Amino acid sequence: MKRVRPLVQKLRAYVPGEQSRIKGLIKLNTNENPYPPSPKVLAAVKAAVDGRLRLYPNPTAQVLREKLAKLHGCSPENIIVGNGCDDILAMACRAFVEPLTAPAKPLDAPAPARSVVQFFDPSYSLYPVLAAIHGAHAQAVPLADDFALPSLAELKKGGQWDFRAALTLVTTPNAPSGRGYSTAELERLCRAQKGVILLDETYVDFAEENAMALALKYPQVLVARTFSKAYSLCFQRVGYCVGHPELIGGLHKIRDSYNVNGLGQVAAAATLDDQPYYQANFRRIGATRERLSHGLTALGFRVCPSQTNFIFAKPSVLSAERWLQKLRDRKILVRWFGYPSVRDYLRISIGTDAEADALLKTVRRILGECRG
Ligand SMILES: *Cc1c(COP(=O)(O)O)cnc(C)c1O
Repeated sequence: MKRVRPLVQKLRAYVPGEQSRIKGLIKLNTNENPYPPSPKVLAAVKAAVDGRLRLYPNPTAQVLREKLAKLHGCSPENIIVGNGCDDILAMACRAFVEPLTAPAKPLDAPAPARSVVQFFDPSYSLYPVLAAIHGAHAQAVPLADDFALPSLAELKKGGQWDFRAALTLVTTPNAPSGRGYSTAELERLCRAQKGVILLDETYVDFAEENAMALALKYPQVLVARTFSKAYSLCFQRVGYCVGHPELIGGLHKIRDSYNVNGLGQVAAAATLDDQPYYQANFRRIGATRERLSHGLTALGFRVCPSQTNFIFAKPSVLSAERWLQKLRDRKILVRWFGYPSVRDYLRISIGTDAEADALLKTVRRILGECRG
């Protein structure tokens, strides 16, 4: 007897970047911040570790939501906090998308808009997995080779884009390419969408512009953020989403009762109290990004312009897959995605300057070996 649902049996689970414990490894594969959280954040977390761990945390992360509301000039009713941004994305599928009931008839008919989760290819590779878990239709719409945001005319002409899709997920700046999108072009897309459009601003602190204002202007627009990458807090799992109280209220109804752990709430709240520390890190990471981009370009890599804490680069001489292995053999971990639109690229997280230097040195050595 099969005890696991057929949908789950067929599911191809998301594969996160390797969390290796190899000693001396240079880890540039999951876009973690190379710098630790602020000393004030560490102190706040330590101070919270006592007998109170026996208590449930605040179910809605009230203190954190109030601080975030102040930061973004809105009300706590405009905000929901999640167990990482991934939790927000999963909740959005559950709250806004109707699972497919039966196969569409005829078989090649388009899926009904109410069951469509739509996103660009490439973008965050978790999106199709979340759609599949929910039993929804994942609609991947290709980006051009430069990863630019298509215009409305291009989307209409392409014929694949669904302006009525129940949920549209846009990674902005784009991952894995690192390309930034202007608020003006995002606004044109948002205005054209009838269903919910969620702007995943995971990397926005490294970008030139952000689109938070759109979440407070349009009832169908949500903006999701996370403390993981820019705020050095992956371990604590805290993300949030801003939007109209009707959408946010829907998300609150379906979330786990205590979806954000107490120490995470404390750490995130303390993070917001020490912005200058993080601003300095953003500048450092930006400077390292430019150095590494120039260094790799000089070695024949084609590096995409980045507005994130990673770069996307087409390597020279060997295939990207071979580079992944050769770097790994020399204790440098980067990310390679084997799917067709991006298999020629490596995604390299921005670490410290010393890590960038070590990477450049290793690349130079590998190139030297190739040329014999
Ligand atoms: C890392 C990442 C997330 C998830 O962040 P968490 O808050 O750690 O769950 C979401 N979206 C994109 C594009 C990411 O790269």
